[in-house]
Amino acid sequence: MSNIVAIVGRPNVGKSTLFNRLIEQKKAIMDNVSGVTRDRHYGYAEWTGKFFTVIDTGGYVVGSEDIFEEAIREQVQIAMEEAGVVLFVVDCITGMTDLDKDFADVLRRSKKPVILVANKADTTEKSYAAMEFYELGLGDPYPISAENGNNTGDLLDAVVANF
Ligand code: GDP
Ligand code: MG
Repeated sequence: MSNIVAIVGRPNVGKSTLFNRLIEQKKAIMDNVSGVTRDRHYGYAEWTGKFFTVIDTGGYVVGSEDIFEEAIREQVQIAMEEAGVVLFVVDCITGMTDLDKDFADVLRRSKKPVILVANKADTTEKSYAAMEFYELGLGDPYPISAENGNNTGDLLDAVVANF
């Protein structure tokens, strides 16, 4: 199992915010590594003595909704090729969207461990909104706030349990 974690999900759910939080302690972003496209950002993270690489796959999602399907395919392809664990991020404030369901359909068929991250659960009250994402069939959602760090420790425990 490679110690690589890929962050996938539709635009604006907070993938990049989560990426930045996970790599907070080791700000060694590897964007300029040869062979690395501008479409993905790599960073190093550490939790309880376990080291792993994080990929933010969302960088190429620019422009119209027409490319969403293509975006899903590309993100999932990166995740499948490179990652040992996939963090699938959804948004508690916006709630479930069709695109979340499309992502989930693809991810359920993959052989990789997928951790469902219900982001923007900034308060305990907001974290109740995470429950609707059980419906995606990807197990227990982890309600977190990438912005304020709420529950990210529990998420990291779940991530490194795979390594
Ligand atoms: P990405 O497109 O998935 O990479 O999403 P971004 O990380 O760029 O975040 C999209 C927007 O959501 C930004 O305005 C962030 O400030 C906001 N955001 C990200 N994480 C959180 C969070 O935990 N709580 C709240 N309230 N907003 C967040
Ligand atoms: Mg982003």
